[in-house]
Amino acid sequence: MKIGATLFLVLALCLSASPLNAIVNAETTQAKEQIIVFKNGTIYTVNDKQPKAEAIAVKGDRIIYVGTNKGAQSYEKKAARVVDLKGSTVVPGMTDSHYHLAGVGAREMNLNLEGTNTLEAFLAKVKERVDKAKPGEWITGRGWIETFWKPPTFPTRWDLDKIAPNNPVYLTRADGHASVANSAAITLAGITKETANPFGGEIMRDKQTGEANGMFLDKAQGLIGAKIPPNRGDNAEQAYLLGVKRSIELGWCQIQDAGGTLGEVELLKKLYSEGKIKLRIYKAIHGPSAGATKFIADGAAAPQFDNRFTFRTIKVVMDGALGSKGAWLLENYSDYNTAGFPTVKPEELYPMLIEALKAGIQVETHAIGDRANRVILDLYEKAFAAVPPAERKVKDPRWRVEHAQILDLADVPRFAKLGVIPSMQPSHAIGDLHFAPSRLGMKRLAGAYAWESLIKSGVKIAGGSDAPVERGEPMIEFYAAVARKDIRGYTGEGWHPEQAVSRQDALKMFTLWAAYAAFEENLKGSIEVGKLADLTVLSADIMKIAAPEILKTRCVMTVIGGEVVYQDNSLASLSTSSPALSLSEIRRENTNAEADVASSEESKDITKPEPLKVSRPQYPKLARNKGTEGTVQLSVLVGMDGKVKEVKVLSGLPDGLTEEAIKAAWNLRFKPAINQTNKQPVDYWTNVEISFRITG
Ligand SMILES: [Zn+2]
Repeated sequence: MKIGATLFLVLALCLSASPLNAIVNAETTQAKEQIIVFKNGTIYTVNDKQPKAEAIAVKGDRIIYVGTNKGAQSYEKKAARVVDLKGSTVVPGMTDSHYHLAGVGAREMNLNLEGTNTLEAFLAKVKERVDKAKPGEWITGRGWIETFWKPPTFPTRWDLDKIAPNNPVYLTRADGHASVANSAAITLAGITKETANPFGGEIMRDKQTGEANGMFLDKAQGLIGAKIPPNRGDNAEQAYLLGVKRSIELGWCQIQDAGGTLGEVELLKKLYSEGKIKLRIYKAIHGPSAGATKFIADGAAAPQFDNRFTFRTIKVVMDGALGSKGAWLLENYSDYNTAGFPTVKPEELYPMLIEALKAGIQVETHAIGDRANRVILDLYEKAFAAVPPAERKVKDPRWRVEHAQILDLADVPRFAKLGVIPSMQPSHAIGDLHFAPSRLGMKRLAGAYAWESLIKSGVKIAGGSDAPVERGEPMIEFYAAVARKDIRGYTGEGWHPEQAVSRQDALKMFTLWAAYAAFEENLKGSIEVGKLADLTVLSADIMKIAAPEILKTRCVMTVIGGEVVYQDNSLASLSTSSPALSLSEIRRENTNAEADVASSEESKDITKPEPLKVSRPQYPKLARNKGTEGTVQLSVLVGMDGKVKEVKVLSGLPDGLTEEAIKAAWNLRFKPAINQTNKQPVDYWTNVEISFRITG
């Protein structure tokens, strides 16, 4: 193909002294001694004794100064790097307390259908993928929600057949409780008019003919899912790394991974030991299970990898979800003749609770319905009484209830009384409240998503998103907590606006209180001397701007353990004084190149990057350290928004600069491409060369 579009970039890493160490290898002694100053910020510390500041000094991975710009001057002189925040807002590194990291990564790997706000947009996005596929290749994806479609009805097999006549297509709703398949997939799965609904699931059918209409609910999803060959690219390691990348770009400094296996724990440890993960992960595995039994016998380990990885929690699932009527209620659903059901038998769970309490293992239990919440609080209470503090390895066990979504008002004060932490997801409320009134009736909504009542009762709520069930974006969660309106500003009867929280409390939910839920409040969660230097830098002052503006606010920099792990250069709002890694030095030598890509059909080939065309930029004679001078040739996949979605290293990967070179590529921006034939936006591959040199 005549791509004519190879884009040559020069990234000059002009470094004097030895700051490269901090960027390339945070583990070196120099990095541990290195000082970085962040100044001219609007800094919200979440420390009541000093709520606001202008500047922060960091040494190694710890904060050594918080205060005025003037006070920071003495550190500036010694600093290897000074970041001028130019008024940007800084909050303590944000934590998502309920996240499914591998799921977030898998969503990136498959077709991500989030944000398709019309049936047409949904179909267009699927079609774009289908057009790239070989005949017969399975197309899978996740993330669609029909709530805002007009009309808000499920898609059908016939909708999909129009755009995908030759490929089996299977696309899961954001919540994971429903999927739509096309006729090719349904045929391959051998489903006919006669196929009965499996236990716990429903094959939705055409009212006239009785034919499957393409929608499969809950357990019926397995009828199609079982036929999908394992995706070649669908390996756990790749999913984790993509999930980590997305998380850091959104401003998360830690995610608390709600479930998994011992195998996942081992994989994560391997990735940390290889230096591939910077994000902090607080990990749980599912129980009761053989893995959980082994974990209890072995005991929880201390935080590892510079406090980046902690494994001390077992995740229990008590019931299902409200949307699919699987939440376990005290009384029947208002729109259905059932009260839901438990997914674990209390008598089978209880012995594990006793052992976990003795062994100092934290337990977190998914509970959505008011009965599920009551039963788990009862079980926790009984276990706490059976194993008094003197017999526990950890006296204050800080057990959690994940979601704590629908509570009988009598159970609200029990969290504070028992010392149980509600771990809640504000975005669930603003999505669910569209259908919760019909599911629950008005009366039961008084204890639903009852954030403010819980805070007033004296608990610390750990805030999370439950991504990929929700989009997993800190600004959506923060907005939902303070606005308690959907992202279009809608609120309705029974939404209980008085349960919205103050901005101070919303910030705590995603910082200090999240840290508390992980036993880390002395280590992180606020910007204080001695704590880990985790910072989320935002494009606007979320403590002051109008609520809808919060949704437009973006993460411009993520700092984990004193290391800048993400910086959004498109905003160009931050500058760093020399010596520094200054990504603003990227020069585009051929800025018109993207236009050519736009007309190239073949540029959609995403499996084989074009052979490399190497530019030969001239270097000034500044390089003194020949060992760290060179060029890296990369192929990048540019998304429809112009952001880099994937990077493949073609050649020239230098020793020691691996991550930084790639990271620089992730930060590049390109013009989005339009396929000239069908006028649809497309992803495209293009080659770039990144040159670097170090002056020492
Ligand atoms: Zn979850």
